[in-house]
Amino acid sequence: MDPATIQAIAISHLHGDHFGGIPYLLMEQYFAGRTAPLAIGGPRELQQRLARAGDALYPDFFRKTALDYPVSFVTLGETPVMLGAAEVSAHPVTHVAESDPHGLRVKVEGKLIAYSGDARWSDELVTVAQGADLFICESTSFAKPDPAHLSYKELIANRAKLDCRRIILTHLGQEALAHVAEMELEPAQDGMLVTL
Ligand SMILES: [Zn+2]
Ligand SMILES: [Zn+2]
Repeated sequence: MDPATIQAIAISHLHGDHFGGIPYLLMEQYFAGRTAPLAIGGPRELQQRLARAGDALYPDFFRKTALDYPVSFVTLGETPVMLGAAEVSAHPVTHVAESDPHGLRVKVEGKLIAYSGDARWSDELVTVAQGADLFICESTSFAKPDPAHLSYKELIANRAKLDCRRIILTHLGQEALAHVAEMELEPAQDGMLVTL
């Protein structure tokens, strides 16, 4: 997608594969001449971690350059807040505790999109997915147990508890990708566009 069309970013937890692209986006939009505001929501320490990431990646840019478009930060929690045009809330899930893991619920144009973030199975995911038009759920492995992540088999075993219209799988690791043909739930693809 065209980065200029991004109004808001919601981050589930502080692992690099989930927020590490933001410094590049901030730089790219600076050089693209962005003037529109960008809202970023996520865990408590997101702003500090992003500052540290930017400093590690491009100190020459981030120490000297004032972005000439407004970037705002908000800590996401269970009380919904407006982030760009979306109403977003974050709910604790079970993953690596230091990453401050949350599942997200994003309401936009009358639709509710839920996202597991990274999470092992717990009934917290039932709360995250409650009433969602689309639940984007991690499925790091197919059958292999993982203390920090969900397997496809565990997700299927708990599918009936999830009150959501549609599930798209994401965060698939090698073992999961090797079993995609056996899955009844649809896996995400790079560049996939979903219409709700
Ligand atoms: Zn991850
Ligand atoms: Zn993670």
